[in-house]
Amino acid sequence: MNAKVFMPVIENGDEGLMRPTQVTVNLDALVNNFRAIRDQVAPAKMMPILKANAYGHGLVPVARLMAGLGADYLGVAVLEEGILLRKAGIQTPILVLGGIWGSQIPLFLKYDLTLTASSIEKLHQIDQAAEALGVTARVHLKIDTGMERIGVHDYNAEGFLEAALQCQHVRVEGIFSHFANADAADPSSAQLQLERFQEVLRFYERRSLPLPMRHMANSAAVLRFPEAYFDMVRPGILLYGVYPSAEVPRTVQVHPALSWKTRVVYFKVTKPGRGVSYGWTWTPDRLTRIVTLPVGYGDGYFRAMSNKAQVLIRGRRYPQVGRICMDQMMVNIGWETAYNGDEVVLIGQQGAERITVEDLAAWAGTIPYEVLTNINTRVPRVYVGSETYQQMIADPQG
Ligand SMILES: *Cc1c(COP(=O)(O)O)cnc(C)c1O
Repeated sequence: MNAKVFMPVIENGDEGLMRPTQVTVNLDALVNNFRAIRDQVAPAKMMPILKANAYGHGLVPVARLMAGLGADYLGVAVLEEGILLRKAGIQTPILVLGGIWGSQIPLFLKYDLTLTASSIEKLHQIDQAAEALGVTARVHLKIDTGMERIGVHDYNAEGFLEAALQCQHVRVEGIFSHFANADAADPSSAQLQLERFQEVLRFYERRSLPLPMRHMANSAAVLRFPEAYFDMVRPGILLYGVYPSAEVPRTVQVHPALSWKTRVVYFKVTKPGRGVSYGWTWTPDRLTRIVTLPVGYGDGYFRAMSNKAQVLIRGRRYPQVGRICMDQMMVNIGWETAYNGDEVVLIGQQGAERITVEDLAAWAGTIPYEVLTNINTRVPRVYVGSETYQQMIADPQG
């Protein structure tokens, strides 16, 4: 199968010589997820969220795909992610969602990135920096309706919105807020946040001013709060085919785009009583076949999953045993057969069996978001899927 590979060290033509531990990203799945969400939220606009290396799927390729599909806006967390996208030739508007560091404002303006203004002080810093450079800054105002992270509290927002009107070198293009509990079983606190945001927005109505672009919905809100779609939605995890929690209704059908595979690199038989790996936390009680895999916590396969995780080999589930090391780990195949070079699935499907991101999250005591964003950049990403989408993610400079 034709596939585009992103691993800077191995040159094109030598892909077959890459390390066998690889993430495969299915572009068709990403496209289907994007379209399923867009169909659900239309006519609201789409801002795919691409922070943290596009939830581990690869920042630039996913951004090119989303831009190619007609995403209206792209969302990242930090300035540097936005600059990487501009340097990759992406021209779609980009909002940096996180709090800004004052001295970086000129770089936002240089790379035509939209700033999040989260206080009157930051607003003035942006205004002054834009004046000094002789440009107009594109800004989205951040309202805190209950996250207590960044943004001006809804009950203090009037003065903030007022101040924004006075800034000569700022164009308030958007206004937004963020849910703290949209993925919880009980929807009441999310509804409260929604009402607080709506109250803030009445400012524009009272003054007969045009509304900036309003946005609030993360993935969980896309699934269950149509009232929160406003003018644009900000789906992250759902775009990658993973549901934000087990509590939310699955009103949009999505499918995981990422799988993570490696291969058996070593086979041995261990004797009863001889402990395996650091600390000898697991010891066989009979003659047992053990295979070694070239993947470990240095790749993002959490050490906390030691003696809990399972992998797929030859279509069957086997337990990982002993401590997960930085770069390697061992699997107990009992008295079954496996050979050097056999494919091993860490996340994804093999035969009739499947291991999900949710499985890893449960074994590690965390959430799917952390599993995905922790897959290290030293794991090459391989992009498979239709030729049209392969072309969309290709470097326009060749
Ligand atoms: C991360 C993030 C999102 C996306 O959240 P998901 O739960 O992945 O959909 C949306 N908005 C903001 C401000 C975020 O930080």
